[in-house]
Amino acid sequence: MTETAPIFSMHKYGTWVLTIALSLALWLCCSTTTAATSPVSAWQFTQDITPTQRKELKTWLAEVQAGLNRLLGPFPDQHEIHIKQQSSNSSPVPWARTAKGTTRQIHFTVDTSKPWSAFRQDWTAAHEVSHMLFPYVGEDRWFAEGLASYLQYQVMFAAGHIDWDTAAAKIEERFQRVKNSKVPNAWSVLKHNAQLSQERDYPRLYWGGAAFFAMIDQRLAQDHDLRLTQVISAYTQCCYSPAPTRAMDLLNLFDKLSGTEVFLKTYHQEMLSDQTPNTKFLGAWLRTTPPRLFE
Ligand SMILES: [Zn+2]
Repeated sequence: MTETAPIFSMHKYGTWVLTIALSLALWLCCSTTTAATSPVSAWQFTQDITPTQRKELKTWLAEVQAGLNRLLGPFPDQHEIHIKQQSSNSSPVPWARTAKGTTRQIHFTVDTSKPWSAFRQDWTAAHEVSHMLFPYVGEDRWFAEGLASYLQYQVMFAAGHIDWDTAAAKIEERFQRVKNSKVPNAWSVLKHNAQLSQERDYPRLYWGGAAFFAMIDQRLAQDHDLRLTQVISAYTQCCYSPAPTRAMDLLNLFDKLSGTEVFLKTYHQEMLSDQTPNTKFLGAWLRTTPPRLFE
């Protein structure tokens, strides 16, 4: 869901000594990646959440965070978690957002009258923790939301909360929903990003962005025997900074880390075109190609 603006100034990547091969080799060969310290620096609950419920909520979020660790390695930074209670007719997690200021925070609104099994089937926490891998990217919401949306079901899979068939089917269903949206297909994701306040077509922004990253994942796998999660893992271990940046800077960095031109080439082909990315062949590929996980 949404991200709010930070306080500090624009960051530019300076000189960084990058050992792409080393980072990826470490990832590929042997690393077991359990964060040395908890990714959560502070927990805050409203008073109407009982001690037993707090314990259950911590267990649920620890499972999601462990899923992220299995998929992408350790968190690069700590964050606070703030939880408040609100009854909901549908979701156990009706609302959430992240804040990336002087401290990094995830805010959840939860309905603890729902069964804990329903929490484990809900994508919200997996989406929000995925946001914690990246700095604030300003107006480039397609990047932040597209990436978190593409990763959310993969994190749930890595957490053991859903199987891969379910994860792939959910991603494909979201792509299909965007295709059937009432807003013209001829609009690019960037145009949706720019027009968001008028059109409020969030699914297309989120899942149009996710389709862009799914295409990159497919191209990395088929042409370079790499996965998007491996490049993100290399990034979080070598080059992460909490200071704000822009999507293009990160795409450029991801190309360097992967030793490819897939990120910027796909950006020029898909994001600068007049169409939302064509997801026709992504579903079949995803179903047979689960992400690689850390042991
Ligand atoms: Zn989000």
